[in-house]
Amino acid sequence: MARLVMKFGGTSVADLDRIRNVARHVKREIDAGHQAAVVVSAMAGRTDELVGWCRAAAPLHDAREYDAVVASGEQVTAGLLAIVLEGMGVNARSWQGWQLPIVTSDAHGSARILDINGTELLKRFTESGEVAVIAGFQGVHPDSGRITTLGRGGSDTSAVAIAAAIGAERCDIYTDVDGVYTTDPRVVPKAQRLDKVAYEEMLELASLGAKVMQVRSVELGMVHNVRIFVRSSFDRPEDIDPRADPPGTLICGEEEIVEQQVVTGIAFSKDEAQIAIRRVADKPGIAAAIFGPLADANINVDMIVQNVSGDGMTTDLTFTVPAADYGRATDVLKKVRKEVNYERLDGATDVAKVSVIGIGMRSHAGVAALAFKALAERRINIRAITTSEIKFSMLIDANYTELAVRTLHSLYGLDKE
Ligand code: ADP
Ligand code: ASP
Ligand code: MG
Repeated sequence: MARLVMKFGGTSVADLDRIRNVARHVKREIDAGHQAAVVVSAMAGRTDELVGWCRAAAPLHDAREYDAVVASGEQVTAGLLAIVLEGMGVNARSWQGWQLPIVTSDAHGSARILDINGTELLKRFTESGEVAVIAGFQGVHPDSGRITTLGRGGSDTSAVAIAAAIGAERCDIYTDVDGVYTTDPRVVPKAQRLDKVAYEEMLELASLGAKVMQVRSVELGMVHNVRIFVRSSFDRPEDIDPRADPPGTLICGEEEIVEQQVVTGIAFSKDEAQIAIRRVADKPGIAAAIFGPLADANINVDMIVQNVSGDGMTTDLTFTVPAADYGRATDVLKKVRKEVNYERLDGATDVAKVSVIGIGMRSHAGVAALAFKALAERRINIRAITTSEIKFSMLIDANYTELAVRTLHSLYGLDKE
């Protein structure tokens, strides 16, 4: 007997037929003698619709009310799945974030989970074998008593946090692909499924654009050592052989991965904007005068390039911010123009960041140089570069994203035969 968390994303619960299919997956585990806590997302497209309604109601709105609205999507699927399970003779009940409770910070719209009370779930597992169907993506701030949400894609984080709280053997993330691939399989058909991927690599893949897991869920998994298994919800539950390992990807500690590749995967994000500050004084304190106010406005600055000053007096400073923060970032910079004293502000939103990831890079030199050469041969201009121990990222024109990803995927031998 094992204790499992089973998480089902939006496409997996898109309609009642899919919810019935999900219920059969849950029943399969219960019939095999396991205990299960199930975490569900809102039906596909529902959260986008709810977010759209908030924006239409008022472009600038109270984040607490935004959370009250968008958390409702998960509430519907949790109730529906519990109804379907009951109909199949499986003892189940739904839980909303505040009922467990899933205690979070008060950062509405991107709250952090602080604590989860798993005792009641464990008691019900043992006393009545009840399946807990938990609304993902939501929690409660204890002081105000108000509903919070965990940021887009947050049900993954709910699932991993619950797995840690109840000491689950495994956290199964059921989604619309059968695992984590070397790159987005919808963009590169030659992408291959990885059997295992290290937490650290998955963290980079996720934060550099691979949507398959929310970044915080991987962080939590790494800290609490939760074994996360990404698999498809579209397999027919009847076809799954309980004695064989199902297809999927295990996200686990680096030490469990025997055959290590130099490059594990390629991620990309078109969600970037580039800002260039032209002819700014080249003197101490300038970086602080520019990046301090951006940090105060909660804007994440990523790739930073400072040109070598030609005249010894002024320089150009180029950096990227998330596309969604582009307008706010330029507003902030216009406000500090007097102190910073720059000549011009240029910006571009038609840029993309392509990143190459692999823990093998720690012990291999020259991996990035190969990429620079391959992109040059394709006449793709690199606007900025950042590197760290296990990844490097390049900023390019957005039009070339797919070409760059496919080029790098072949270059590092990741293409499926
Ligand atoms: P869910 O609704 O189940 O949470 P998501 O849409 O959030 O699912 O994540 C799954 C999607 O992530 C896939 O459909 C796929 O297009 C995308 N994706 C991006 N990069 C990768 C990758 N490296 N491996 C697998 N899927 C990826
Ligand atoms: N429904 C939420 C979203 O679409 C959370 C999730 O699905 O993980 O972002
Ligand atoms: Mg998701």
